[in-house]
Amino acid sequence: MKFINHYRWRAYPPSLNADLPAHTVDCPECGQRISLPRLKKGQEVHCPRCDHRIVGIGKNPYIAPLAYATASLILMAFVYSMTFITVTLGGITSILSLPSMMRQLIVLDFGFLAEVMFILTFGSPLIFLLCCLYVYLALLFDKAFPGLSYATRTLVRLRHFIMVDVFFISTLVAYIKLSSVAEVSLGAAFYLMFALALVLIRTSVSIPEHWVYYKINLILGRNAMGKSPEKCVCCSRCLYFREKTETTCGVCGADLYIRRPKSLSMSTAFLLAAMILYIPANLLPIMISSNPTVVQANTIFNGIVYMWEEGDKLIAAIIFSASILVPGAKIVLLIVLNLSAHYGLPASGKTMMKIYHFTDAVGKWSMIDIFVIIILMSSFHSHVARVVPGQAAIYFCLVVILTMLSAYFFDPRLLWDKFYHSETITNRPSENVPDTTYTYE
Ligand SMILES: [Zn+2]
Ligand SMILES: [Zn+2]
Repeated sequence: MKFINHYRWRAYPPSLNADLPAHTVDCPECGQRISLPRLKKGQEVHCPRCDHRIVGIGKNPYIAPLAYATASLILMAFVYSMTFITVTLGGITSILSLPSMMRQLIVLDFGFLAEVMFILTFGSPLIFLLCCLYVYLALLFDKAFPGLSYATRTLVRLRHFIMVDVFFISTLVAYIKLSSVAEVSLGAAFYLMFALALVLIRTSVSIPEHWVYYKINLILGRNAMGKSPEKCVCCSRCLYFREKTETTCGVCGADLYIRRPKSLSMSTAFLLAAMILYIPANLLPIMISSNPTVVQANTIFNGIVYMWEEGDKLIAAIIFSASILVPGAKIVLLIVLNLSAHYGLPASGKTMMKIYHFTDAVGKWSMIDIFVIIILMSSFHSHVARVVPGQAAIYFCLVVILTMLSAYFFDPRLLWDKFYHSETITNRPSENVPDTTYTYE
């Protein structure tokens, strides 16, 4: 009788090859074509022109993200089930956990803020971590799980919508504010949230998108590196070359283009909308606080002046930076970037890229004020003291989202195109020749 063994013995952990073969990419931030050598564990490559990190393979590329994601999930379970903050005012004690804070917002009919808080501090990190486990278990066991491409796409895109770190800092601000009027103690969930924020950042940076797409496609029986760079378009997201006839990338599913279509008009449109909403966000009251004797409606600026005069200079400075300086600076810098891409660069390409990265990185910190209001609202909702958000809170959230969209639609390669275009016209010696391929030794 013939015996067929369906089960292949596999050493555990499997001797997985983490190498990325030598290949060519176009830098997604400046468009420079770069020939990469074979990359091994612990190696990373930066663009020689703009210094953008093209890909970095970790020392434990298969295990580390799994370990970080598991640790984050365990921490999340504790953070969302334990006491976050306890507030006692006028003999009434509120013991708040994060789910009870969201419930409070819904009860008070501020569902929009509950959704914002739910998506940014719970929904996005949870789905991100589950996708991370799914994708990395598929990589580890070399198995084509169903919906693997979709899970990978979700994983790499959700990274920008995790704001646990912003919520943590907001709690500190709210704590200082609260402790001047009530008895406040921070619960175990607050301290664990600090650890969670750090491990989430670590998980996020341990996932090299370019490498993950290559390995996932190998499992799915496709070679992402099969196309010739000369006749194809380099996908701006996964950085593999695809046929010009494709509209969406066959490797990662993103839209395929050499430069983002309508980049400047889309970016400018979102920017104009943000500028218009920035006016009511600053003129209307953002927070209405009341007690049995007095009702006080504060705009962002009033609130800051009030805190400064009351002696809370540190919080006043933090709220001023997060609510006025950051969104204002972001709008001004996005105007500079859009005008530069249209009319020419006022500074070198590298300086302009620093401005671009700055606008991208600071955006989420504007949410501090909104999170502070959410925490104050959940803490003060009795007849003794009540805090509710004013109309400006919604306008302010929209300004943050619209400036993020404006930055998202802005294609930074347009800056470099303009830079080299003006270099050619004025015939100055250029720093780099744009069309040549850079080869790493
Ligand atoms: Zn570059
Ligand atoms: Zn792609």
